[in-house]
Amino acid sequence: MVFSERDLNIWKSKYPLLTDIIDLGPVFWLNSNLKCMTDSPPLPVSKRDMEEAESLWERFIPFFKKEFPETKSTNGVIESPLKEIATMKTELEQKAALAIDGALYLKCDNQLPIAGSIKARGGIYEVLQHAEALAMKAGLINKESNYEIFSSEPMKELFQQSTIGVASTGNLGLSIGIMSAKLGFKVSVYMSADAKQWKKDLLRSKGVTVYEIAGDFSEAIREGRQKTIADPMGYFVDDEDSKHLFLGYSVAALRLQKQLQEKQIKVDKEHPLFVYLPCGVGGAPGGIAFGLKQIFGDHVHCFFVEPTHSPALLIGLLTGEKEKVSVQDFGIDNHTDADGLAVGRPSSFATSISEHLISGIYTVEDNTLYNLLTLLVDSENIYLEPSATAGLTGPNRVKQTNYMKQHDINSEQVTHIAWATGGDLVPKADMEQFYEKGKQID
Ligand SMILES: *Cc1c(COP(=O)(O)O)cnc(C)c1O
Repeated sequence: MVFSERDLNIWKSKYPLLTDIIDLGPVFWLNSNLKCMTDSPPLPVSKRDMEEAESLWERFIPFFKKEFPETKSTNGVIESPLKEIATMKTELEQKAALAIDGALYLKCDNQLPIAGSIKARGGIYEVLQHAEALAMKAGLINKESNYEIFSSEPMKELFQQSTIGVASTGNLGLSIGIMSAKLGFKVSVYMSADAKQWKKDLLRSKGVTVYEIAGDFSEAIREGRQKTIADPMGYFVDDEDSKHLFLGYSVAALRLQKQLQEKQIKVDKEHPLFVYLPCGVGGAPGGIAFGLKQIFGDHVHCFFVEPTHSPALLIGLLTGEKEKVSVQDFGIDNHTDADGLAVGRPSSFATSISEHLISGIYTVEDNTLYNLLTLLVDSENIYLEPSATAGLTGPNRVKQTNYMKQHDINSEQVTHIAWATGGDLVPKADMEQFYEKGKQID
């Protein structure tokens, strides 16, 4: 469905911001549906679910230590550092000619082991919970078992009988593909047209079957879902509607809480936490925002970021139509170099939660992403993929709104965290091209 000129005009008069969104300008939207956590907004998942998800990760620690030596330094836990980026902060201030009050940190999910992106959280978690359920049903484990057994032959023989399918713009396919193949599953990844060649090559080298779908993410997911569930032993990881992905992501909040404590960074009414999360279907940022809200309540303020060409969640929440509309319905093309965010329609599961918990959404142009990428290399020697840089303009973008005033916040005491969502697996030659592109843009 693409709206007619007449329908579009009705939408625009109802929601004036839509005019700027359709014109592809960078916009900032504040969520008037934001609920106070003290009012316990009804949600389909609970803090308890998040804690149970963390326990599942813990049960698999012996397996990770054995199978993935890169997790040794973190003791079998898949986690990333939290790093203050003071030099980058100065650069951002100069660039925008605007001071950033408070401290600026980067959550380095680009360094997450195994998948090199935020998808190591949700994607790997969903594969693990499926593997655990199958092994339990087959009587190969109980909850007291040492999960090193997941690298044994009988386990592989069990998993070889089932297929895992997933559709992806790239990174989700990497995390599901690598993990499923390691456990012994047959795995098929349905890649949308935006997916980078190196991601497909890497997966094929691990024995993953890669299908190249001519269309965008929505088309890849439709085809992947259909083909996977046609197989009675097939399991589809559904990025448009997955509670497991969501819970896998949410565990990041418990880990971040520990890291903040270690750095003696307070989060309370006088010391608010502002978090800026790049958003595709909304599962990763939604899960993390949910987790943070469970822990820090109204003292944490979550903002999502989308490309100007793919404002899927923004349109869904602004109009209240959520996953029922896509950016293409509004004549927006969903073409962006931020492949991790190139999504035209948001996740139904995640959207129903984020709708109450996020403070707002802003959009960025691709050129800005490249520019930030280069700036971060020059100032901090950190290499991100374009999607992952989107949160870095958050502090300045919020400052240009009246959000701080509305919420009676002393901006000097704010801790800002830009969530860096990926980058470590990007081949060197591609990264050099990104860097050069950012150099040429001013
Ligand atoms: C997937 C992804 C995101 C966003 O996650 P969603 O669950 O799609 O919202 C952000 N950044 C990168 C690099 C990603 O791969």
